[in-house]
Amino acid sequence: MSFNTLGLKAELLRAVAEMGYSKPTPIQLKAIPAVLDGGDILAAAQTGTGKTAGFTLPLLQRLLTDTKPAGKPAVRGLILTPTRELAAQVGESVTNYGRYVPLSSTIIFGGVNIRPQINALRKGVDIVVATPGRLLDHVRQKNLDLSQVEVLILDEADRMLDMGFIHDIRKILAMLPQKRQNLLFSATFSNEIQKLADKLLHKPVMIEVAQRNTAAEQVSQTVYPIDQGRKRALLSHLIGSQNWQQVLVFARTKHGSNRLAEQLEKDGIRSTAIHGNKSQGARTKALADFKAGRARVLVATDIAARGLDIEQLPYVVNYDLPNIPEDYVHRIGRTGRAGHTGQAISLVAGDEIRQLQAIERLLQKKITREHVKGYESRGGDTERVKPAGSQPSRNNNNGRNANGRNSFQSKQRPARSQGRFANA
Ligand code: AMP
Repeated sequence: MSFNTLGLKAELLRAVAEMGYSKPTPIQLKAIPAVLDGGDILAAAQTGTGKTAGFTLPLLQRLLTDTKPAGKPAVRGLILTPTRELAAQVGESVTNYGRYVPLSSTIIFGGVNIRPQINALRKGVDIVVATPGRLLDHVRQKNLDLSQVEVLILDEADRMLDMGFIHDIRKILAMLPQKRQNLLFSATFSNEIQKLADKLLHKPVMIEVAQRNTAAEQVSQTVYPIDQGRKRALLSHLIGSQNWQQVLVFARTKHGSNRLAEQLEKDGIRSTAIHGNKSQGARTKALADFKAGRARVLVATDIAARGLDIEQLPYVVNYDLPNIPEDYVHRIGRTGRAGHTGQAISLVAGDEIRQLQAIERLLQKKITREHVKGYESRGGDTERVKPAGSQPSRNNNNGRNANGRNSFQSKQRPARSQGRFANA
């Protein structure tokens, strides 16, 4: 199936061809015709599936086809994202896909000088990509008017709710015209998302694609059981001995991210950190250094890493396991993107066993354990933490530690995570 069959205009197809895409991804195949149809959409899709083009291309086409109000452009397309980085990336996609169409767009997010944003808005734009807080600042300052919005897109809606944006979103919704098209994209479906969808969407078309990253065809996942105090040494060893060149490492805290980047530097591995305490300038620089290969390791917290689009990222390391199992899926979504294979490596200490079990329940599979000689977990307390009803499993030697004891063993019963799409 090619892009030509989706009903897109030649100007958009030309931009797509220049991006080098030969065929649409599954989410694009489903979302593009559905958005062009004009109805509301509820889409289960995570980063890495090609969802951005899935909503941007038909948005551009709809705004091109609809009659434009006379005078300076009014905001007719509004895309809300949880983070600055995602806003920047979605904004870049709008520019790229829209390079041959006469529509203008701008990106609005906090943490940077508001003046250039005011200037852009005052000139008039057709499409705004924004984080909710700064958008409301502009509305309060009367820098933009949302009464002409025809298409509203909530991207990574689950993350927006996790980050506490629900009140801002409600305020924004109240400013939009009643008659409009709403698209809600979310990787996971909690009760809160369902509630938002019920309020926002009118008879939505449901779109779901197999979650590539949980299907694990693209991403090979490995757990290294290791004592907390030995994690850094094991990470340096893996990076060095396996010659990993571009490694995104997730740490739980901002302080921990900084410390780990500093320690890796001391081990001779060029590293940088990205987290919410850093200024926008420092975050942009860290990302640019990493993308350009000036830093081999980027240590990030979940929130800072959200939406980072780094082409062909080969390695993702969970230095700390996330407390929320869905975050694991988000994290490993950074690798194995758009047809490339990737590796997700988790360094798991004894007191993270419960988190690992929750992740495996969500994935409905057990992740392969591996050990590196000299870096085995002493695993003192790991055996005691087993899910009720578990049997000792001896499916491979990887579950054993150096003492021959079965640490990290858990036989998982498949269980569906509540509130997710059936095949998510
Ligand atoms: P997204 O899920 O929107 O963040 O996209 C993930 C990555 O896939 C981005 O780097 C896109 O440039 C790329 N991409 C999007 N659509 C396609 C396509 N049809 N073929 C190949 N790559 C694509």
